[in-house]
Amino acid sequence: MDIAVIGSNMVDLVSYIDKIPNEGETLEAADFKIGCGGKGANQAVAAAKMGSKVMMVTKVGDDLFADRTIENLESYGIDTEFTSKIPGTSSGVAPIFVDRESKNRILIIKGANQYLLPEDIDHAAKKLKKSSLIVLQLEIPIQTTYRAIEFGKENGIPIILNPAPAAKKLDFDYVRKCDYFIPNESELELLTGMPVESKDQIRTAASTLLEKGLKNVIVTMGSRGVMWVKSEKIFTVDSYKVDAIDTTGAGDAFIGCFAHFLVQSGDVLLAIKMATAFAALSVVKQGTQTSYPSVQELEQFIK
Ligand code: ADP
Repeated sequence: MDIAVIGSNMVDLVSYIDKIPNEGETLEAADFKIGCGGKGANQAVAAAKMGSKVMMVTKVGDDLFADRTIENLESYGIDTEFTSKIPGTSSGVAPIFVDRESKNRILIIKGANQYLLPEDIDHAAKKLKKSSLIVLQLEIPIQTTYRAIEFGKENGIPIILNPAPAAKKLDFDYVRKCDYFIPNESELELLTGMPVESKDQIRTAASTLLEKGLKNVIVTMGSRGVMWVKSEKIFTVDSYKVDAIDTTGAGDAFIGCFAHFLVQSGDVLLAIKMATAFAALSVVKQGTQTSYPSVQELEQFIK
């Protein structure tokens, strides 16, 4: 196993809209699509599309979305032995609204994701121990994320933590044990309480996380690129100039692809560059996982 993603799955219910309705107003949307998403599943799919062997520890409900979610993960070759159903619970669903300017607004109904518990990590321990990297986000109970961090440390497995969705407070006794901390700008802003408008401000905010004991902070900055802050060193990688039509899941695309190239090469900068290209390709197509490119498309793009 190359990568273990311990996290969420969601079914995205995506409406393409001209504008958000006001209170009491009913509007027609231009289009609607159902897609498999959730930060954990998106990241797992991105890594699997690049060729990593990926396992996913996650929970689904017992509704019509559960089998669809499992089938979807398996269609990418993801190991679902520890993807289990919770009776009497809805699967996670995410109504997403994408406007004409490709800006998105997202609601999360966590459903079964709330029942991914610390003991599920121990239950999957034998298989998890075979992985080279653990990838975590914050769409599951925080105690489960913390247990996963401990598990990674106990077993010498490097950890990526993507602090998404944005949280105001995290327990740095756990978080500092993560090898790669990858927020976007708004997550960095909320977590540090510092402004993130300019790149200087982003660097300053990221540096405060290093002071709290983090080793590598990698900030994704949308069309402005990526900043990797590590002790005194700072590296920035520009985004590709593309016509973005749907940025949903761009951050997850970045993280899954970064995880893949990190495991394959051990070269952080190379992994950032490849993930930047992968994520750029993901924003020029509508959809979340379905917008992620193949190995061939990525190779063609970076030629
Ligand atoms: P999130 O989806 O979590 O908000 P970002 O918006 O930072 O994350 O996007 C993640 C990565 O996707 C960026 O670092 C960049 O590499 C790529 N990306 C996002 N938006 C664009 C864009 N408009 N053009 C090119 N690349 C983009």
